[in-house]
Amino acid sequence: MKRYFIHTFGCQMNVNDSLRMSEALSKMSYVPTPEPENADLIILNTCSIREKAEDKMLSALGRYRAVKASRGAILGVGGCVAQQEKDKLLKKVPYLDFVFGPDNIAKLPEVITRVQEARERVVETAFVDSEEYVFPRADAETSRGKVTEFVTVMKGCDNVCSFCVVPHTRGREVSRAFPDVLVEVADLARVGLREVTLIGQNVNSYMGGISFAQLLLRTAEVPGIERVRFTTSHPHDLSDELIEAFRVQPKIAPHFHLPVQCGSDRILKMMRRDYTVEQYLVQLAKLRAARPGIAVTTDIIVGFPGETEEEFEMTMQLTEQVKYENQFSFVYSPRPKTGAALREKEWGLVPHEVKVARLERLQKLQRRISGEYTQSQVGLDVEVMVEGRSRYDATKRFGRTPENRTVNFDGDAPAGSFVTVHIERATPNQLQGKQVAVLQGPTVAPPPVELTVPLHVPAEA
Ligand code: SAM
Ligand code: SF4
Repeated sequence: MKRYFIHTFGCQMNVNDSLRMSEALSKMSYVPTPEPENADLIILNTCSIREKAEDKMLSALGRYRAVKASRGAILGVGGCVAQQEKDKLLKKVPYLDFVFGPDNIAKLPEVITRVQEARERVVETAFVDSEEYVFPRADAETSRGKVTEFVTVMKGCDNVCSFCVVPHTRGREVSRAFPDVLVEVADLARVGLREVTLIGQNVNSYMGGISFAQLLLRTAEVPGIERVRFTTSHPHDLSDELIEAFRVQPKIAPHFHLPVQCGSDRILKMMRRDYTVEQYLVQLAKLRAARPGIAVTTDIIVGFPGETEEEFEMTMQLTEQVKYENQFSFVYSPRPKTGAALREKEWGLVPHEVKVARLERLQKLQRRISGEYTQSQVGLDVEVMVEGRSRYDATKRFGRTPENRTVNFDGDAPAGSFVTVHIERATPNQLQGKQVAVLQGPTVAPPPVELTVPLHVPAEA
């Protein structure tokens, strides 16, 4: 048996791609190892959304060079940097064995065989941006013992946000036919999964034969599935039909990640986000009316070229006004071939220290608001889907509320159960408490050795 180690950078799409790579490798008799030093194959699944992510991947690659030298490990790079750099990466990193893009995960066994047997250095980065694309699917047997799983419903992005490299690295949008999605969800439910997260770069622009709202409703009807989540959405596809789905189907979990990016209409226009702050707020108000208590999270970029102090204040005000449960905020990072990178000198670069100071202010504000949400739960009884043992304390259990708040608690319910937890303490990031009732047991017997959660391959931004 040979051992592999996958180092994942970036978003949930990459985490999901790494899981699919693991499945492909397990069919080649590879087993995972948590230690790269013991690996015969090391794959870096990379992210190029910001420059920092790319730098981190290059320094990790440098560290793994020693493993290659000491035990002859094979070294490969997948993901968005691979797609962007293609064969240039092999030239830049002479000890690298192969490079493969996100559309080529299914070819991984063939690529590795070529490297091992023909001692070739391989590049596989062709886009398959047509209906011929075969979506990597979660293998139900590999998912046995898990409670929650990603299901890919579309790939690529047809938008042209001026800051974003994704359309260059992930290609055009392709949606997966809805019967395929539903069969995969049903297979996962049969081995005991209770929750699925439908994923895609722009998931709510799904067009696989039915609308995205209908896909959510049909997924929620699959026997055994109790919670349906999705990520990530674009505000312009937050349709009234999607809002209605939240009103009528309680299994669609009350959490919406709706990236706004900034609070100024002028900057939104330069970002080529085709909504105004007011339009965003109107849709959000409808969503909150349809599902009172829904948790709303967002993404924000600070220091976009030309952003003034007043425009940054608008983002602060929007954060206060919406009261996001949480947000992922980043300083603007120029990306090759993007509209903003080409025009940033004309628009005016925001100095790095100004960007960082703005980010710190925004994050401080968000920590306060997130803390208010979690504190408001202290003393309440909340519904938790048990995912397994806590990562921080093996004597505790771990799970999430419908709003996606993480809970570490004293209890004994097996993974796959739904329990009531009395919340005793809170930090801005998590709730703590004790199990007071079991609402529903798992649908299939839990495995003899329970895994510690979160189970997903850890990702680095
Ligand atoms: N499709 C989603 C949307 O439309 O909002 C976003 C997906 S993108 C992979 C995740 C987040 O990365 C974006 O929402 C944005 O906040 C951030 N991001 C993308 N490009 C960036 C850049 N050049 N600099 C800083 N942050 C960036
Ligand atoms: Fe990037 Fe915009 Fe597409 Fe989101 S919608 S992936 S931010 S181009």
